[in-house]
Amino acid sequence: MSRFCVYLGSRDGRDPQFLEATRRLGAELARRGHTLVYGGARIGLMGALADAVMAEGGEAVGVMPDHLVEREQAHHGLSELIRVRNMHERKANMAAHADAFIVLPGGIGTLEEFFEAWTWHYLGLHDKPIGVLDTAGFYAPLLAFLDSTVEHGFLNGRTRAELIDATEPAVLLDALEAQLATTA
Ligand code: AMP
Repeated sequence: MSRFCVYLGSRDGRDPQFLEATRRLGAELARRGHTLVYGGARIGLMGALADAVMAEGGEAVGVMPDHLVEREQAHHGLSELIRVRNMHERKANMAAHADAFIVLPGGIGTLEEFFEAWTWHYLGLHDKPIGVLDTAGFYAPLLAFLDSTVEHGFLNGRTRAELIDATEPAVLLDALEAQLATTA
């Protein structure tokens, strides 16, 4: 059983597949006995993920800065809501509580968190696997761009290959669990 830090949108997105895949991931995390660590909101995909974990009897931990408790509407039905002072503390806290990272569709907040987690991995600051859930091809342009970044000589192929991606939540979890088993 591991703790998965999930970065994802504070909006639902237009395609209903985003919500569906998010709920499937939440249920799957709970069924496998994993703990969800996320940003603590009850809006958008963030709220849907936490609801799905809790509905399946799982554990969900939210980390939210005081100034966002109103704006992003803190989820008060979580196993634990950790309140922190600012965004830096939020990210540090979420990362510290995680064994692995998962990135779901989202906006610039999600992308910023994803790239920090991956950059810090690349710099050797942590050894936690990172998986991208490519629901409905949402991340396909970004993954293709990352491939071109390798071709252009700005990113090494090994670092690119470390990033796991899958279109199905269960497949992504299988891959991350396998990776965690090798580092345990
Ligand atoms: P978004 O993908 O833009 O909907 O944002 C998803 C989540 O990321 C929201 O809870 C944002 O508040 C959060 N977020 C955005 N930027 C940061 C940051 N620099 N550090 C921590 N969380 C952030």
